[in-house]
This record gives sequence, structure tokens and C-alpha cells, in this order.
Amino acid sequence: MQKTSVVILGAGIVGAFVFNTLTQRGVKAILLEKGEDVCLGASKANSGIIHAGYDCAKDTLKAKFNVLGNKMFPKIAKRLGEKILDCGSLVVGDENGLETLKTLLERGIYNGVKNIRIIEKDELHALEPNLNDNICFGLFSPDAKIISPYTFCISLCEEAIVNGGKLLLNFDATSIKKIDNRFEISNGNDTITAEFVINCTAENVNSVNSLIDEKQFDISLVKGEYMLFDNSQPGFVSRPIFPIPTEKSKGIVACPTTHGNFFLGPTAKDVSTYDTSFSYDSINEIKSKSSLIIKNVNYKKVIKLYAGVRVKVGDDFEFDFSEKNKGFVTIAGICSPGLSSAPAIAKFVVDKLVNEQNLKTKKVKLKKRKVYTNILNLSPQKLNVLIKKNKDYGEIVCNCETLSKGEVLEVLRGPISPLTTDGVKRRLRATMGHCQGSFCYSTLVKVMSEFYKLPEEKIIMRGKQSLVLSDIKEGGIYEND
Ligand SMILES: Cc1cc2nc3c(=O)[nH]c(=O)nc-3n(C[C@H](O)[C@H](O)[C@H](O)COP(=O)(O)OP(=O)(O)OC[C@H]3O[C@@H](n4cnc5c(N)ncnc54)[C@H](O)[C@@H]3O)c2cc1C
Repeated sequence: MQKTSVVILGAGIVGAFVFNTLTQRGVKAILLEKGEDVCLGASKANSGIIHAGYDCAKDTLKAKFNVLGNKMFPKIAKRLGEKILDCGSLVVGDENGLETLKTLLERGIYNGVKNIRIIEKDELHALEPNLNDNICFGLFSPDAKIISPYTFCISLCEEAIVNGGKLLLNFDATSIKKIDNRFEISNGNDTITAEFVINCTAENVNSVNSLIDEKQFDISLVKGEYMLFDNSQPGFVSRPIFPIPTEKSKGIVACPTTHGNFFLGPTAKDVSTYDTSFSYDSINEIKSKSSLIIKNVNYKKVIKLYAGVRVKVGDDFEFDFSEKNKGFVTIAGICSPGLSSAPAIAKFVVDKLVNEQNLKTKKVKLKKRKVYTNILNLSPQKLNVLIKKNKDYGEIVCNCETLSKGEVLEVLRGPISPLTTDGVKRRLRATMGHCQGSFCYSTLVKVMSEFYKLPEEKIIMRGKQSLVLSDIKEGGIYEND
């Protein structure tokens, strides 16, 4: 039986920030994730926008944590070595949208968003040349930013591990008991005992809570689908561009990524199950809605269609610090802007446990995580020196993304050794380029099979049995515009 101070269930961005915050304060923590890697839920399929905070209703936890979280990101990104695009965001419309923009401006100022202002046609079109000609007003929020949601989540977990935290993957808790002021969490094989348990399992909070007869939440699910374009049009949009929002959603955004691509999406469809399929009807919806704000989209450059699911509980985030089982905490309904809010959510929960429930912290000498080599960031001279030292950095695995075997091996030897090709993809962009793996999967599988000393057919794409070779790409998306 392993003993720790805090167990966190669920390694999405919320669990990752809680895990990281605890280890930064010298608390012994174990993160349990039921999947084969961290960041497998909504945290890997969102827009990656660190919102400024004008969008959230006044006096909500969403507004409070969004504005606080936005301010916390730059420092944390720097510490982790994570890229952050300090690009701001725009909400745009024609004359009919001006009143809504004024409402958003007033709400933003109320929520504590700084530097936000309405700009007019000339300035707008100078900022974003691919805006539609009829767009004449925009709400500019310079404090919005973009991150890579999955590398950020992975880096947070890696840093926590480097600082003494423990991560157990493929851990599906089947029982939680409270015995003599300590919780015992078990998956049938292993048991962990902890003073505190923090449930961050998103759509599964109810099933985890039912293991210990804890509060149930009224959960609803909203699917968001995306079209991702390749990186051949850098600067096509320079910041997230939102349309005038509706009651239900912020609308289809045109948004760059930290990798130089851009995407259109997400849709907002109520679903009854955690369904991450992309429905082909959505292609037309995304095309027609985005055409209201931008022009010159080249749909031949679409490389991927995918979806994420927002997990909602009413209109706000929910926190339950159990009275019945003191030390048991549930974080529920972390839908958008959950990514932006996650550092502030983690701080709030940890502070509350320290101040009100006697969670003990201690000053420790903190270590930095190792930032992986990216040969694209090296000058030809430096790359030559590196290749002379280690020829693996001269052996290309993924041509579209210019990724070497040396970089893949660094990640495989990292604190969370990815066991699937998707795990390598999320860390390094392998198979993420224009060919979407058609040319590089076989090389990547070979590198992984040599490293893990496993036959190539045992290297899987995701989950427990999704074979790389069985994943045949769907056709039909490169239709003429
Ligand atoms: C389409 C879309 C776009 C979005 N865009 C943005 C945006 O631009 N900006 C923004 O701020 N927010 C955005 N969001 C919201 C943001 O993505 C979420 O708020 C955030 O990812 C939620 O993180 P989480 O950790 O709560 O959930 P998840 O990422 O879903 O993590 C939950 C984890 O728990 C694990 N788990 C489940 N059950 C168990 C169990 N029994 N035991 C152990 N582990 C378990 C899962 O495998 C998963 O890894 C968007 C969301 C969506 C869907």
C-alpha cells in the first residue's frame, strides 16, 4: 500500500495544475489517471485560448478564475519552457454587432479585464487582413493568449514528477473508503492511502463520487468540432477571431495555434454521451459560419477533423468540499474557460485545504523540468554540432514537422514515457503535419519498437488496442471550395 498526503483523480488540465501546485509547495501527491497517458479528455481537444475574461457572466466563479488564471499563465509558461503567444483576441461584427460589443466591453471592465477596447475598421483590417470586408467593429483584448493545451498539461505533470510527485496511469479507481481519517483508493490491484482526495475526473465525477457516496452533479455535455489546417499559411490569422456570440456559444473562431497552423471551430452540439466523433454535416456549418467573419480560406489545406466535449454543471464551475468525508473535494463542471482558469482553480483549492483543513506544506528546493530539444529552433551551425555528437538528431522521423529520431528518443526517456504514437504526437508534433502520418508512422513505430524492445505490431496508436496500421484515414475532406 502506498501512502501519500493527497491523491488527485484525473490528469486533465485541472488535475495537472492541482498536482503541480501541490508539489511546488512540497506536498506529497499522487495523480491517478484511468487512461494510458495524461491529457486525454477535453484538455487535449480545445481551442488553446487563454481568454481575457470579458465573456463570463458577472460575479461568477468563471469570471473570477478566468481573469486570475490569465495573469498567472505567462510566469508558469516561462518556468516550464512552454510557448505562449501573446497575441490578444478579437470579437468582430458589422454595424449590427456594435451593441453586443459594447456589452462585452462593459462586462470585461467589470470582471477586471485590462486594456480591452473597441476598434474600428481600418485598425481591425490592418491587424487581420483576411477579415471579411463587411466587418467594421471589433472588441480587442490584448491580454488573451494562446498555448498548446496538451504540451502545457504534459509539462505541468512532468515538472510535478521531477519535484517528487507520482503519476499512476491506467489506474481506474473501483473503490474509495474512509478508514480512520484516511482515504483508501484502490483499483482492485493497488491501494493508495491519503489524507485528501481531489476528484478532477470531468464527465466521470459522479461515478467516482458514488464510490464513497458523495455529492452527485447534474452534468450536461456539449460537443465542439474543429477543422484544422496545415501550417503552410503562417499568419493567415494572427489571433483568435470570434464572431458576435450567441446565448449558447462564443461561436466558430478562426484561431492560430502555437505550431503555426490555424483552425476553424468549435461547433456547440448537445450530446447525451461523451461523443468525440466529427459529424460530416459540421463541415458545412463551420464553413458557412466562419465565412461571416473571414475570407480567403483554402479548404484544400484541411488536415484533420476532430472534436472535444465540454462538461457542464449549470452555468458555473462547482466546488464541493465534503462535510461528510472531510478532506474529499470535487471539482465539477469545468467547461470553458476551464483551461484559462485552471491555475487559479488549483490555487483556490490548495489554499483552502491549507487554510481550512490543515494540509501541511513545506519549503522545498524546486527543480526545473528538462525542456526537450527542438531542432527547428537551432541554427544550422548548432544543429551540425549536435548531429556530430549524436547522429540521431540528423535522422528525420517526421518530414512534415522536421522531427528527428534524437528528439523522439529524448521524449521516450522523459519523466512520462509515452507508450502510444499519439502520446509522442502530442509531445512532439510527430504525424501532426500535412501527411497526417502517412509517411512517418512506420518510422515512428520502428523507433518506438526498438526503444521499448517490443515487436512493431505491439506499438499502438492510442488506448489499449488501437493498432497504428489499422487506422485508415477517411477521405472526402479535400473537396473544392
Ligand atoms: C471544444 C472545446 C473548446 C474549448 N476551448 C477552450 C479555450 O479555448 N479556453 C479555455 O479556457 N477553455 C476551453 N475549453 C474548456 C477546457 O478544455 C476544459 O475546461 C478543460 O479542459 C477541462 O479540464 P478537466 O481537467 O476538468 O477535464 P479533462 O481534460 O476531461 O480531464 C479529465 C481527466 O480525468 C480522467 N478520468 C476520468 N475518469 C477517471 C477515473 N475514474 N479515474 C481517473 N481518471 C479519470 C480522464 O481520462 C481525463 O484525463 C474548451 C473545451 C472544449 C470541449
